Amino acid sequence: MQSPVNAAERLAMIGAMIERARRRFGQPPEKVTLVAVSKTFPAEAIAPFINAGQRVFGENRVQEAKTKWPALRALHPDLELHLIGPLQTNKAREAVALFDVIETVDRDKLAGVLAEEMARGGRRLPVFVQVNIGLEPQKAGIAPQEAVAFVTRCRQVHGLEVAGLMCIPPEDQPPGPYFAQLAMLGGEAGVNQLSMGMSGDFETAIGMGATHVRLGSALFGQRPPLPQGT
Ligand SMILES: *Cc1c(COP(=O)(O)O)cnc(C)c1O
Repeated sequence: MQSPVNAAERLAMIGAMIERARRRFGQPPEKVTLVAVSKTFPAEAIAPFINAGQRVFGENRVQEAKTKWPALRALHPDLELHLIGPLQTNKAREAVALFDVIETVDRDKLAGVLAEEMARGGRRLPVFVQVNIGLEPQKAGIAPQEAVAFVTRCRQVHGLEVAGLMCIPPEDQPPGPYFAQLAMLGGEAGVNQLSMGMSGDFETAIGMGATHVRLGSALFGQRPPLPQGT
């Protein structure tokens, strides 16, 4: 667990790395948002990062987020919480109530249910379309060749506000070409935000135009192992 001093130091260090990568690759200023991925870490571990100024966080499970974030948000109303894990339609209502951005829209049924729940809750959230950029059977996301048409359907059929694309490239290959492909799809789909890059590859992602990098272990330290089946 990080002490407050460590949280501030980590944020400063990562912020400097993001800025260095941005400059090195000639990306425009103010472009890269750090999404601090706090999954598996308790509220006590997250608080020092909030106190050090971090405002955007990511969680991958609705159930877990529900136990941690309402109390943190009550103290800090300006937080922005992103859902970065797979979403089941039966959790869509809770997700819309709890999160500010849903990064993992990947099928029409989910898009439709989210649109209904946003209308019902009076909360219109920006979403990202998750692309299964490596076409990996175990991963969520729409297939790359269907992504552009799906973005169009999300907008025109479901009425969602699609802010960008999101991906998690295969673990065992250089990520650069996958990031480049996501950027190309984003251009074709007419979205200007790209959520790509994690602790091990965020600088590469920034080079390919990431606007959001999702960092967990680089900020919070190593995660405890997940229970089976999660
Ligand atoms: C856990 C997770 C991350 C953060 O991973 P790190 O390697 O710890 O930075 C980013 N994106 C998604 C979708 C995740 O589930």
